[in-house]
Amino acid sequence: LRDELGRMDRLSLVGQMAASITHEIRNPMAVIRGFVQLMKERTGEKQHEYFRIIMDELDRANMIINDFLSLAQNRMIDKAFASLNDIVTEIMPLIQADSNLRGLHVHWNPQPDLPELRLNDKEMKQLILNLARNGLEAMKDGGSLILSTRSYPGKVELRVKDTGIGITQEQMDKLFEPFFTTKSSGTGLGLPVCLSIVEKHHARIDVESRIGEGTTFIVTFSIEESLSEVAAGAGYAVSSVG
Ligand code: ADP
Ligand code: MG
Repeated sequence: LRDELGRMDRLSLVGQMAASITHEIRNPMAVIRGFVQLMKERTGEKQHEYFRIIMDELDRANMIINDFLSLAQNRMIDKAFASLNDIVTEIMPLIQADSNLRGLHVHWNPQPDLPELRLNDKEMKQLILNLARNGLEAMKDGGSLILSTRSYPGKVELRVKDTGIGITQEQMDKLFEPFFTTKSSGTGLGLPVCLSIVEKHHARIDVESRIGEGTTFIVTFSIEESLSEVAAGAGYAVSSVG
């Protein structure tokens, strides 16, 4: 089948499948969740642990479907001139709250007068959140998450740095593969979603890491490419990882 279909056909097939997944899987799951909730309210204390597991697993499956859909739909996205600093500042309270719950520190160092880029607000927030969450999740025994921006000729850079466990070379090779996770309740879709967002913004993403010292994710936007956009050439390739 694969050889018979052209690339465009295959892409639209994926888009159609994504749409049917919404109806055929997400909706029944919402119904199941509702009835499980009802059953939980009507049974004894002893069964509550089973219900908690059922709900957690349903929520996890739902997370996977949501991330998969945002990858698969891969539609042209609306962008507008925006300051990356404003977007990070707007999402900061969420990161701060997550960090407080874990007893960790967050620092935000925006470079003043950062050049504006053409950005999709929603997707940028998703990108920043995914990277920040990974950073926080990598710090089990305290530490700091540092977000920063800077610009240099032709480029704007966003850094998300943690003082966590670091990434081994073996993990590094699989980092952006869908469903690669080292967490018991991870989806392994956070970074593939990041990569897709980065590509849609004509940016690149690089990783620097030292075991036991921490990890820095660096997203680099080309100002020229951001401004002279012709088409959103996203695609599914996992190749532009430095
Ligand atoms: P998930 O967070 O659900 O596991 P991701 O795609 O976000 O999925 O990340 C994939 C894997 O990459 C993680 O399970 C983890 O092993 C590794 N990883 C990502 N970010 C970091 C980080 N900041 N520090 C250490 N490991 C990381
Ligand atoms: Mg993640």
